[in-house]
Amino acid sequence: MVRCGSCRRERVVKISYHLSDFKHLYYWCPFCRKNTYHEIVERIAP
Ligand SMILES: [Zn+2]
Repeated sequence: MVRCGSCRRERVVKISYHLSDFKHLYYWCPFCRKNTYHEIVERIAP
């Protein structure tokens, strides 16, 4: 699960395992309708 750093909404996304090594992702947010930094709040097992 990731949390948008802009609107703070959390949502489930499918993250490949190598990306889960990062604490932040630059990702598309459908609520902000733009790419924002997302904080990974829970690791998803591969
Ligand atoms: Zn957002």
